[in-house]
Amino acid sequence: MPLTDSTATSPPRRRCFPLMATLMVFLWTPAVGLGGEPEVRITHSGSWTIAESENFRLVAQNSRIPLREVAEQCETLKTTLQKKWLGQSSNRPWLPVCEITFCSTLRDYHRALGSGVGTSVGCATINYDQGRVTQRQIHIRLDHEDWLTDALPHELTHVIVADRFTENRIPPWLDEGIGVLSESDEKQQERFKALQASLRRGHKYSWEDLFRVRSFPPANYRNAFYGQSARLVDYLSRQGKSPSHLLEFAQHAEEHGYQAAYQKYYASEESANLSAPLENHLPHNVILGMSQERDQSSLVD
Ligand SMILES: [Zn+2]
Repeated sequence: MPLTDSTATSPPRRRCFPLMATLMVFLWTPAVGLGGEPEVRITHSGSWTIAESENFRLVAQNSRIPLREVAEQCETLKTTLQKKWLGQSSNRPWLPVCEITFCSTLRDYHRALGSGVGTSVGCATINYDQGRVTQRQIHIRLDHEDWLTDALPHELTHVIVADRFTENRIPPWLDEGIGVLSESDEKQQERFKALQASLRRGHKYSWEDLFRVRSFPPANYRNAFYGQSARLVDYLSRQGKSPSHLLEFAQHAEEHGYQAAYQKYYASEESANLSAPLENHLPHNVILGMSQERDQSSLVD
């Protein structure tokens, strides 16, 4: 679905997590206690169960998932992901809180969001007004095995980094690259293989085109978009700089161009040009990994 700009008068930003054709082992990781579990209040309204914690309001209908533990997990995840991508966790509670609606079926999911979200597993909706976030909303499908380990952290990451981009829109490559890198190792491996397959078919973005993406990519370029975005964020994250350095780079790049931003934030004498390290390190590494499996000539058709 389109990734649209958002202002006070435009539609909210939506990021939806696509369904991958795989079965993930359902892993339930209980929130770490140590006597410091977040306080969670459980109430019921008809067939709905509501769990409220400091930063979240979880709602589910006729659901058997343990909402209290999921709310605790969300609080822990929020702290972890804020430290990872913003460099620090915030002591200020979210206002408004992040509402997470759990949908039992794809039909319920479409009823809540419309059929435009396709078969995605999760969707984050964020709205802004005058430089502040006025809505934090996540919808998660429970009929897919990986919702807890992949879709939930992915969508929650969108909500977290949105706090850093209230004035300017976060570039989609950064938003989705960070989202992918918040997923489980198994899912990231799956995406890496999907990227390799996409490159073998010749479906690849030039880096300049990747930076310019503003709407949801066509289906045959989706794996390249998510995969290349994740590799790019991973590469920049490994340059010995802080997470906030990466976000500042992206913001500067959107305003002044990527080459200028790269020279200001990352370039060394050996790699003063942005496209050189990206081409030399990222796709080359991908292709090296592929060449171990098959003839290199099959990669460039
Ligand atoms: Zn996403």
